[in-house]
Amino acid sequence: MKILVAVKRVLDYNVKARVKSDGSGVDLANQKLSMNPFDEIACEEAVRLKEAGVATEVIAVSCGPAGCQETLRSAMAIGADRGVLVETDGALEPLAVAKLVKHVAEKEGVQLAIFGKQAIDDDAGQAGQMFAGLMGWGQATFASKIKVEGGTALVTREIDGGLENLKLKLPVVVTTDLRLNEPRFITLPNIMKAKKKPLEVLKAADLGLDLAPRTTTLRVDEPAARKAGIKVADVAELVKRLKEEAKVL
Ligand code: AMP
Repeated sequence: MKILVAVKRVLDYNVKARVKSDGSGVDLANQKLSMNPFDEIACEEAVRLKEAGVATEVIAVSCGPAGCQETLRSAMAIGADRGVLVETDGALEPLAVAKLVKHVAEKEGVQLAIFGKQAIDDDAGQAGQMFAGLMGWGQATFASKIKVEGGTALVTREIDGGLENLKLKLPVVVTTDLRLNEPRFITLPNIMKAKKKPLEVLKAADLGLDLAPRTTTLRVDEPAARKAGIKVADVAELVKRLKEEAKVL
């Protein structure tokens, strides 16, 4: 069984996002870009399934500019066998990503696709679900446990107020939640090994797909700066200020 893992290159989660001066988006120039954290969890899970003998091959797929090759190398350093970059410099919405990943999934004949539950840059949380819709596959989102037995996947999902256990017939799409696993530390020897693994580049423009954005970003603004806090001398002053200044009592 082949597993596909969708990995997105995003602004590193440790970097403070800054909005471009013209308000057209987040400034990515000269910033550290890394694999979306939920996609690292997806890679780790796919590699564990391969190590457990459930999968035969793990294919990492990224859609975006040439720089995404670095993200694919990280996926291969975690243990993915090979990478596929669907290259485009244009903006990609989740629907376009779902279409591009569908192309690769069909070409490769994968039985399980693992996406992150959301990309930390657009926070859309849509690509995995749209991919499931386009493929006509079952989906288990926000997974905190995955077990594959024969032709079925048993997935535990984190839902409000508890856990839901699903049984799905393969092929299936799973999106990862934070508690699914803790991705392994990437070692130097594995980074070196990853450099030798195959990486195929497909041009998105050659695939004949409608990738045009359906939405237009009007403006991106920094969040309003928070006012500095104050220290109060005692409870009486706190209550007075809450009543008279904040007017919340
Ligand atoms: P989103 O719907 O944008 O929040 O993304 C959800 C998940 O879809 C991510 O965690 C990735 O697994 C996958 N994904 C989104 N964009 C891309 C991309 N450009 N390339 C590969 N995978 C992506």
